[in-house]
Amino acid sequence: MIRQDYNRVEPKRRNVLDHRKKQFADLTYKEAHYPTRLNIYAESPTADITLEEFEQWAIDRLRGPVLVELEACSFRNRSPAETAAHMKPMLEKYLPLDTNSSLSTQLAAQRKKDHYSHFILRLAFSSTADLRRRFSRLETMLFRLRLSTDDMRERTAFIQSLNLDWEMVSEDERRQLAAELAATSGTGQGVRKQQAVDEEIWCKVDWDRVPELIETRKVFVKAGKAYVPSREQTSMVVSEFSSFLDRALELTARALPRLDEDDRLSPILDHLSKNFVTPDAAYAHDDNALSGAVINARSIDSLATSHFPLCMQNLHRSLRRDAHLKHFGRLQYTLFLKGIGLSLEECLAFWRQSFHKVTDDTFNKEYRYNVRHAYGDVGGDTNRRGGGYSPFSCQKILTEHPPGTGENHGCPYRHFNVENLTALLQAVGVTDRAVLQGVKEDKEKQKFHMACNRVFEFAHRNEIRRAKEEGVMTAAQLETIVHPNEYFKRSYLLKSLGRDGAADTMTSR
Ligand code: SF4
Repeated sequence: MIRQDYNRVEPKRRNVLDHRKKQFADLTYKEAHYPTRLNIYAESPTADITLEEFEQWAIDRLRGPVLVELEACSFRNRSPAETAAHMKPMLEKYLPLDTNSSLSTQLAAQRKKDHYSHFILRLAFSSTADLRRRFSRLETMLFRLRLSTDDMRERTAFIQSLNLDWEMVSEDERRQLAAELAATSGTGQGVRKQQAVDEEIWCKVDWDRVPELIETRKVFVKAGKAYVPSREQTSMVVSEFSSFLDRALELTARALPRLDEDDRLSPILDHLSKNFVTPDAAYAHDDNALSGAVINARSIDSLATSHFPLCMQNLHRSLRRDAHLKHFGRLQYTLFLKGIGLSLEECLAFWRQSFHKVTDDTFNKEYRYNVRHAYGDVGGDTNRRGGGYSPFSCQKILTEHPPGTGENHGCPYRHFNVENLTALLQAVGVTDRAVLQGVKEDKEKQKFHMACNRVFEFAHRNEIRRAKEEGVMTAAQLETIVHPNEYFKRSYLLKSLGRDGAADTMTSR
C-alpha cells in the first residue's frame, strides 16, 4: 500500500521481520475498480500511495473536517436535512464523490481517496472498543448521508452489487398478501393504499435483521420473514454497512499488533487517534474570560450553585462533603475551574482550603504539583508552552475514564442510574416533574447532552425568554451546549442580563 521509496524501515531491520508479521502479508496487488460512487469497503486497498497522501487523506476525512463535523451535527441534534446542508460544502471540498452521470474526470481519483482514507482511519481507530464504536457510528452516518443523496440509478446498481441475502417477493405472493402489506404502507386509504403497495418493490428477509422496522411497525412479518418495501430498504443497507464495518474493525484490531513493527505508519496512526479522542478539548481558557466576573477561591461556592453544569456541581458537592476528590475528579474539576478564569494562585488556594483534613506538608507533596501541571506551570516543554491542558469537553467526559467506586468524575446523566440522577437533580433544585421525566427519557435514549440542555433551559427559562425578546442571543448561543465551560459561560451571561453591559457582552460573543 505504501510506496517503497518512502519506507523508513532500515533495510537491515526489514530483513529480520518475521514474514508472518508483515502487515497485509496475504494481500497481493489488485487493480481497484470503482463502478459506483458508494463503497462498502469490503476490499482492502493494495496500490502504492505516498506517506504524504496516507496522512493527508486521513486528515481530510477526519478533521477536514468531515467526520468531526458530522459528530458535531449529531451532538447538536441537527435533523438529516440540516446535517446534509451543513456538510455539503465540507464534503465537496475535502472528500468529493461525484456520480457517474456527472461525467467528472476526477471520478477515479475521488473514489480512490475515499477508499484509502476509510481504511487508514479504520487502522487508526480500531485499537479500543470506544474508538471502534465511535468510528463505526460516524462512518455509518457518512454512508447514510451519501446514500440518501445518491443518483437513483447508481444507488440501485450499488445495492444490487452488494449481493445482499434478500429474497424478492414475487407478484403472486404480493397479490396474496396485498391487504397485510397495505396495512404497513402507511400512505393513503383504499385504492391509493393498494396502488402504493403495487408501486413498491418488496423483498423479504429474516425478521431479526430489521429490528428497527419491526419496532416501528413498518413491516409485515410472516413465518419469520419481514416484508420490506423499497422505501425502507435504505435502512437495511445502512444496517448491513454498519454490521459489516463493526466486524471488520474487530478483525483490524486483532491484526494491529503487527503494525507496531512499522515505524513509518505507527506515529501517524497514533497521532490521528489521539486527535480523535479529544476532538474539541482545545477550549482555551481565554475563550471563557468573563469581564467583570469575580472568580476567586471564595466565589466558587456561589458560582457552583448558580452556574455550574451537573457534572461540576456533583464534583463540588462531593468535595464539600468529603474534603477530598480522587485523581480524575480533581483533574476534571481543576481544568474546568481554569477554563472559567480562576487563576493558578486562586486555584491552589481553593484546593488547599477544600482539602482541610490534610496537612500542608501532605498537600504540597501530593496535590500541589498536579494543579500546577494542569495550568502548565510545571511539566514538559509542550505542556508549558501550550499553557497546560484544556478543559474537558462533554465528549471526553462522557466517553473516557468512566468513574469507578468512590470516584465522582464523569457525567451524571451518563454515569448515574436513574434514581441517583433524579435525587441529585432534586438536590440542586430541579424538581419539575416534566423536566425530570424528560431527563429520564433522554437518558434511556442515551441522549445525555439533551438531558443536560433540558435542565439548562429549565434553570434559565426566564432569562432565555427575556434574551430572546430583547434579541440579545446569537444563533450560536441557542445551539446545544457540548462543553461544560460553555454551560458556565452561557449561564453566567444569561443570569447577568440586565446588569450594565451584560446584553452587549452576550451579543459580542
Ligand atoms: Fe457536564 Fe456535559 Fe454531562 Fe452536562 S452533558 S453534565 S456539561 S459532561
